[in-house]
Amino acid sequence: MANTSNLFYKWGGGMKPDFPRIRSAHDEFLVTEDGRELVDAAAGAAVVNLGHSVEGVESVADAQLSELSYLSLSHFSHEAPETLAERLAAVSPGDLNAAFFVNSGSEANEMAFKLARAYHLETGNPHKSTIIGRWQSYHGATLGALSATGNTSRRVQYEPLLHGWPHLPPAYPYRWEYEGTPEEQALAAAAELETTIKQEGPETVAAFIAEPVSGASIPAAHPHPAYFEEVRRICDEYDVLFIADEVMTGFGRTGTMFAMEHFDVVPDMMTLGKGLSGGYAPISATMVRDDIADEFENATGRSFSHGHTFGGNPLSAAIAAHVIDQYTDSVLQTGRKRGELLAAELEPLADNPIVGDFRQIGAMIGIEFVADRDTGEPFDPDLNVNGRVYDRALERGVYTYPGSGSVDGLKGDHLMLSPPLTISESSVKTVADAVTDAVEAVAESVAPHAAS
Ligand code: PMP
Repeated sequence: MANTSNLFYKWGGGMKPDFPRIRSAHDEFLVTEDGRELVDAAAGAAVVNLGHSVEGVESVADAQLSELSYLSLSHFSHEAPETLAERLAAVSPGDLNAAFFVNSGSEANEMAFKLARAYHLETGNPHKSTIIGRWQSYHGATLGALSATGNTSRRVQYEPLLHGWPHLPPAYPYRWEYEGTPEEQALAAAAELETTIKQEGPETVAAFIAEPVSGASIPAAHPHPAYFEEVRRICDEYDVLFIADEVMTGFGRTGTMFAMEHFDVVPDMMTLGKGLSGGYAPISATMVRDDIADEFENATGRSFSHGHTFGGNPLSAAIAAHVIDQYTDSVLQTGRKRGELLAAELEPLADNPIVGDFRQIGAMIGIEFVADRDTGEPFDPDLNVNGRVYDRALERGVYTYPGSGSVDGLKGDHLMLSPPLTISESSVKTVADAVTDAVEAVAESVAPHAAS
């Protein structure tokens, strides 16, 4: 008989034969085939924001399946994507009222890039095609999204990527070398955008994309609000569209519905995925300012020529419309409180010799490992510090989200915790105990003198 694990290993995008096999899940727990319960402190890939037992999803899915699962939205319309679009417009900030549905975060970003280019073409700026991103960012695996991505370990196998898509330094206060107050540093970092736009030539720049709070590349790193205020000003001045990639941060992850709310700045487009369906169906969305979407609907303009076969399919849309109704104020508040409790329980790590920075915003925590706390010098990536902490925590029954180590001179070696917003207080304690134990054990092995 064929060894299915090996087939997965060959074709399954990174799955390895020795991965624990999961049979089922409930609440914040993954249940292995041999009946062990693991606490899902990563919420999958920061997807399962409401846990694995969201009420009512099964009946919504059953009802939709029994009526109609798939429909080509190129030629027909359907209540489910319409309802979802209305709900998303209602929760999105400002004029972000037009929703385009696709199937993954990568596709939502591809869509935003293409829409930005098509918009400039329609509005008489045919040379505005460059997308500016930031280093140590992640925007997706497809070639366009990867070209905007600044995580070098994800890019390296696929170079050369799209030519001439520049990257700025990330919003990474721990490693900023700018002088002054946090606000002055934020303004200095944002000024890099203006410099790059000028260097490229403003008539060539279509859009700037950023994660409002950094995800897996530098978990939970975020700037003083002055950063995004200045980004907004610069984008307006040079007619550059600002795309907020909220694929990971959307739907309560950072304590507010969308992370840009922390900065009180409205982007021109906002990309959503992951928590949009809470993991119950593959669906993502690009939210777009009304007047941008309108460009493609007036009588003389061309329509926006883009779409994916499964985009907005009724089954996924019905599920997502049900799921987003569950992100109530009370659930968002619970997420914030559980994030704060987890940070408080992890307090002993503040003095750990290998912990250089500890960041928390809502239910998103980043722990950055360093070889030298005074200089912030990272560990040799070959030591695989984040991977070792991950392994040890998993042995203790807790699944965490490891971050890439230092690659190509870009610093960083992290662990992210992004549990369901609804994680119980007792599971928070289990996570904190396992992670504290794991970091202490790894510190003992990689920095024994400092640890003693
Ligand atoms: N943007 C961000 C900020 C992400 O975190 C991710 C996924 N980790 C993506 C885009 C890509 O989403 P997907 O894997 O669904 O294509």
